[in-house]
Amino acid sequence: MRRKLIAGNWKMNGLSRDLVEVERLRGAIGQPEADILICPPATLIARMVRIAEGAPFAIGGQDCHWAPAGAHTGDISARMLADAGATAVILGHSERRADHGETSELVARKVAAARQAGLLAIVCVGETEAERDAGRTLEVVGAQLRASLPPGVDPRGLAVAYEPVWAIGSGRTPTGAEIAAVHEGLRATLAASFGPAAEGMRILYGGSVKPGNAAEILALPGVDGALVGGASLRAEDFAAIIAAA
Ligand code: PEP
Repeated sequence: MRRKLIAGNWKMNGLSRDLVEVERLRGAIGQPEADILICPPATLIARMVRIAEGAPFAIGGQDCHWAPAGAHTGDISARMLADAGATAVILGHSERRADHGETSELVARKVAAARQAGLLAIVCVGETEAERDAGRTLEVVGAQLRASLPPGVDPRGLAVAYEPVWAIGSGRTPTGAEIAAVHEGLRATLAASFGPAAEGMRILYGGSVKPGNAAEILALPGVDGALVGGASLRAEDFAAIIAAA
């Protein structure tokens, strides 16, 4: 049995005053059945790490550079995230692929950097609506995943998030059967790369997970957790999703 992982992605949201949501979350979740991760903007990581001390959740980043240090203005390295107290990082999110032109090859370099720094790398893949309509979902996400994995990477430090691009922030989700089929396809891709060790890897679903649909999605075969955007910003909503795990 894989222990579920519920990860919150705050994206470019969150000021000092919003740290109160993390204090509230701490009070609301008791001892959860799942591993919990919150990925705030980099500006809040160190302060959130302090709030998370002794709490049943960890703090992660939303991206990192592939190099450990150097002349890369505005970027943050995996080593810096770890130094701030982060234990994980989301990589290859579709918003980074779209807004910053990130390719799977670049994502693979970032995954290698994250593992080098001891961070859990959560690798995101997902099809666009046009790709889904063309019946290419499995082909697209499989190719993204294969190309986003650096050669020789240890699967124990990796998780995958299946996030259909058209489901993110839209209030729309695939059917349960569609989600389960993609997770099965991704598991087969992982097995082809890692053999039996793939069985221990978590594949999360992300895209409009809310308190109202979390229990149904988290109960689907092959769904080992959720990556939650909008609904992770408010403690009440995120706690309800955590309770459904
Ligand atoms: C995300 O961006 O990772 C995400 C899943 O967003 P939302 O939950 O808001 O759809």
